[in-house]
Amino acid sequence: MSQASQTKPGQTKPGQTKPGQTKPGQGRPGQGRPGQGRPVQYGGGRPGEKQTRRPRREPVEEVWVPKTILGQKVNSGEISSIEEIIEAGLRIQEAGIIKKLLPDLKSEVVDVGIIQKMTSNGQSTRFKAIVAAGNENGYLGIGQGKSKQMRIAIEKATSQAFLNVSPIKLGCGSWECRCDQKHSVPFKIKGKGGSVTIEIIPAPRGLGLVAGGKIKRLLELAGLKDAWTTAKGSTPTMNSTSKAILDCLRQTFSQG
Ligand SMILES: [Zn+2]
Repeated sequence: MSQASQTKPGQTKPGQTKPGQTKPGQGRPGQGRPGQGRPVQYGGGRPGEKQTRRPRREPVEEVWVPKTILGQKVNSGEISSIEEIIEAGLRIQEAGIIKKLLPDLKSEVVDVGIIQKMTSNGQSTRFKAIVAAGNENGYLGIGQGKSKQMRIAIEKATSQAFLNVSPIKLGCGSWECRCDQKHSVPFKIKGKGGSVTIEIIPAPRGLGLVAGGKIKRLLELAGLKDAWTTAKGSTPTMNSTSKAILDCLRQTFSQG
């Protein structure tokens, strides 16, 4: 009888089953809505902090201090376009160079995910992010980042994407259209990333982008307006899909 009341092995220590759910910051009084009036008794918060909310820190615009010789040349205005750097075969090692040369570059989070693995200390959880950067007019870069914090993973991915930015030759390769405007790709291109193969086919003006949601967004960021696409392989894997798209679009420049 005493055995039955003492131990039910499945129920012991419910707190340990999901370590990812108990974050120390969740119990803070500052996060509760002020109108609720529920007495907050979680640990961590000092009682005096209840009403006074710390003013949100304004994001400070960092002044770029170039670290490389190339960065100094860009900053002084000696080099004024990305093409110059690529033609000279130089490697861009600072995201600031790209920001200076392409000030209208937008970055966008394409995908985020959680990486979990078992270590000798237990489970480790990290985040990964894929970020695309493009100016919607002939430049696109895609970067990846991993970190224990989501925000840092996104930051890493963003600066990777900036460093990855490559020029894309836009044009009109459609026999139905034959204009001189830069609304599509100049010819049919095919690119691979992992198991994913993507083909981009020039389309006449006004057709729009025939592509799935995330692929479409990446092509928009690159500056394409009209194109047909075909995709093979596991396209929900954005890691492979984004690589395939970048592989495709880079070919517009190397072939043409
Ligand atoms: Zn056209």
